[in-house]
Amino acid sequence: MEFSLIDRIRQRTAQSRDDVRLGIGDDAALLAVPSGQELAVAIDTMVEGVHFPRDTPAADIGWKALAVNLSDLAAMGATPAWALLALTLPRADEALIDGFADGFAQLAQTYRLALVGGDTTRGALTISVAVHGFVPPGKALTRAGAQVGDAVLVTGTLGDAASGLQLLQQRRRGDAQSNYLIERLNRPTPRVAAGLALRERASACIDVSDGLLADLGHICATSGVGAEIEAALLPRSSALLDLFDDVSSRGFALSGGDDYELCFTVPPQRVASVQADLARLGCGATRIGRIVEGEGVKVRDANGQWLESAHQGWDHFRA
Ligand code: ADP
Ligand code: MG
Repeated sequence: MEFSLIDRIRQRTAQSRDDVRLGIGDDAALLAVPSGQELAVAIDTMVEGVHFPRDTPAADIGWKALAVNLSDLAAMGATPAWALLALTLPRADEALIDGFADGFAQLAQTYRLALVGGDTTRGALTISVAVHGFVPPGKALTRAGAQVGDAVLVTGTLGDAASGLQLLQQRRRGDAQSNYLIERLNRPTPRVAAGLALRERASACIDVSDGLLADLGHICATSGVGAEIEAALLPRSSALLDLFDDVSSRGFALSGGDDYELCFTVPPQRVASVQADLARLGCGATRIGRIVEGEGVKVRDANGQWLESAHQGWDHFRA
């Protein structure tokens, strides 16, 4: 049983690469790291009912399980190569496996990423994906390195995924805008090409998985700086702005998780060329604030009032 499931996954995700000397089927995979490259590795786990709603389509689960990991590689400026998949399933559900593998493969193909092994066990639906990518030595983007005076930018738009989750929970769907926001939740686009373009240009980078305030807060803490954000500059999709009022959409953009955009810092003189390149790559990048001395992230509204105080914490922003 277990072996026929593994075989289904293997067939549906097949992707040949010269650097995979031995893939699925033996006790371990054998992989050739290109000479002169560093290996970037990351792993993320998704649990049904915690990281995705119970009725999420299997193909979306497969896509997202890989996407959240590719987003971590993107944030490091690494080129994706290989993945491992640990699957825990309540029962041998072939439809679930096929859907999952197809969604996973759809995204994997884009990057010629090979699934080289994994583990399959019985239990509550839980998916762990580990990814491996390459980066030239010393060139990875990290959370450290943001300098006072740097501009803070984000790719794409913020708040879509969190608003999509709220729409799902309220059983509001069917119209094009709701569908767009729910798609942003279920099928996030990892910004891999943007991450590669930011290598040797961004001073610090992170992917927005837990919300802008939390994740930019990580850059600040690691870099030993603070950040000031202008709420009016937050990039918000027309779907988000049409379905939610200004305060709610701002709350989603500041605190909502699961967008998997990149938040990064660059010296001011480099902003225009970086923006032009990311626009060409299709995601664009918006300048939302700057790095300052001190610590933590502060947000100013359109009237110049500070939105947050130490007492209110992040909850103040929640929609
Ligand atoms: P072992 O008992 O030696 O760990 P398994 O029976 O768990 O071997 O796995 C057999 C082969 O199938 C291994 O190559 C393993 O990497 C691969 N495999 C198992 N589960 C998965 C999965 N969910 N996705 C991809 N490969 C898998
Ligand atoms: Mg095993």
